[in-house]
Amino acid sequence: MLLIKCPYCEEERPELEFRNAGEAHLVRANPITEQSDEDFAAFLYFRQNPKGLQFERWRHIHGCGRFFNAVRDSVSDKFLTVYKAGEPRPDMQPQLSPAPAELPVTKRSPRTKKVEV
Ligand SMILES: [Zn+2]
Repeated sequence: MLLIKCPYCEEERPELEFRNAGEAHLVRANPITEQSDEDFAAFLYFRQNPKGLQFERWRHIHGCGRFFNAVRDSVSDKFLTVYKAGEPRPDMQPQLSPAPAELPVTKRSPRTKKVEV
């Protein structure tokens, strides 16, 4: 089971106590009325989905109920750090999972054999 540390409770708890709340550090335009419809739609609907480090909002829904941010490696599903909401985005060096080893290329035999007559 995946354990997540809440930065407010300062305890590692099972992931079932938490809920992902989407991408962290989204900034709404100010004033929003001067934003184009396309930019507002991008703000509202489009999210980053990088392979590797993701900055996410989480909520300790079955604990203290507070929102916090986490840096998670989407490849290994490992939480690299958690920090309280409102704190700046940590400067993370690439700590990504190692690239998967290349699988050996196996040569397949043809399914049908040619029979010469
Ligand atoms: Zn908590």
